[in-house]
Amino acid sequence: MDNQNSFLAKSTIKAADLEHRRKINFNISRYDSAVLKGKSQFADIESARKRAKNLKWRAIENLDALLENFESVLTARGAHVLWASDANSALEQIGKICTERNCKTVVKSKSMVTEEIHLNHFLEQQGIESIETDLGEFIQQLDKEPPYHIVTPAMHKSKEDIAKLFYEKLGTPPNLPPEALTLEARKILREKYIQAEIGITGANFLLADTGSIAITENEGNARLSTAFPKTHIVIAGIEKIIPSINDLALFWPLLATFGTGQIVTSYNTIISGPRLKNETDGPEELFVILLDNGRTNLLANEKARESMYCIRCGACLNACPVYKNIGGHAYETTYSGPIGAVITPHLKGMKQWNHLSYASSLCGNCTEVCPVKINLHELLLENRKESIAEGNAGFGEKMAWKLWKKASLNRKYYNKGNASIKNWVANKMIKGWSLHRAEFQFPRETFNEQWRKKNNPENKEN
Ligand code: SF4
Repeated sequence: MDNQNSFLAKSTIKAADLEHRRKINFNISRYDSAVLKGKSQFADIESARKRAKNLKWRAIENLDALLENFESVLTARGAHVLWASDANSALEQIGKICTERNCKTVVKSKSMVTEEIHLNHFLEQQGIESIETDLGEFIQQLDKEPPYHIVTPAMHKSKEDIAKLFYEKLGTPPNLPPEALTLEARKILREKYIQAEIGITGANFLLADTGSIAITENEGNARLSTAFPKTHIVIAGIEKIIPSINDLALFWPLLATFGTGQIVTSYNTIISGPRLKNETDGPEELFVILLDNGRTNLLANEKARESMYCIRCGACLNACPVYKNIGGHAYETTYSGPIGAVITPHLKGMKQWNHLSYASSLCGNCTEVCPVKINLHELLLENRKESIAEGNAGFGEKMAWKLWKKASLNRKYYNKGNASIKNWVANKMIKGWSLHRAEFQFPRETFNEQWRKKNNPENKEN
């Protein structure tokens, strides 16, 4: 089955799954009310969003210079900055670092980039145990499922689902409450932090002026993953750069508000190099891998470039009526929802992934909620345009639009044929429309005919 048909099949199943919808609606409604509280910390949220967009615009327009500055400042403090053009190159470099340190166990904090390059699978093949330390990711790893959402990976699971999972996989008593489940996970993870030779994290922001990595989290697991192991590897997409450490004053509260509805996330860490002489904690070695993996395609595209401003808050997923019905897994991509639909065709190929650009009602809610004001719904339209220009439309589709255009430009064609003929043509040509909707029903008389009739003096009542 190709990507499009698989997406349609999975979406159809999920859209009819009322229990799935109940769980998602419950979690998203809690998110919605929290976001209102988070927003209250801004005196002028609109100006904050505009300023954030402007800063990201500046960062992406000067990406080369900022990344080079980041590299030189960080390297001067003893860290190693490596560049990876694609997933294989990143994995190869991580593999080499692990082999050289005879690594058997890795502790990993939540990172979508590591999902993108399928790091856990790679490490497993190398005989290295890789443990997810974020609770949501730990749950997903236990269930052998990818994250469901870019911020809340186990959003589709209820507390009962998780209790059952722990009971089946870890042998805990059935029906444990959330607090007890968290303690179980903590017990396992504490051991792993001590055992692991290497800690791997992502980065929420790369700070160009100070050559630092900013990590934001709620559980303290990223701090433990970076503090215990002797080696720390950071892997980050090149778009994570922001010009200055001072910009965190805006981006941290913005990410906390739109990501989880918090005023500020519980743990915010800035890492500026490996442990220095006389310092008591921190890793002895720090490697930062800067990943392209298709991002320069976005950079080269004048319109789609704007999607590189994304701070991965997940707000557009929570706001999207399509995501809320079909869930995160139906997309079969690392980044789901509106932002995933915008960037995936550029990261992984327009031909195979252009169908995601159509997985939108174009209601504009995603654009409305984005903290960095990315014009998401317009970028989805741009993707559709590009896909057609690349020749990805089928013969039937092209013919249908040609006919529609011809009829629209000439009233004579519109008025041709009666309603039943029009119904037949439209319902046959627009394939799939009536699978989940009522069939087209053209009125017996066109608007034009009704108008003429209405304005005909002979038909006017005295
Ligand atoms: S596109 Fe905007 S709303 Fe969506 S995840 Fe990125 S920053 Fe958040």
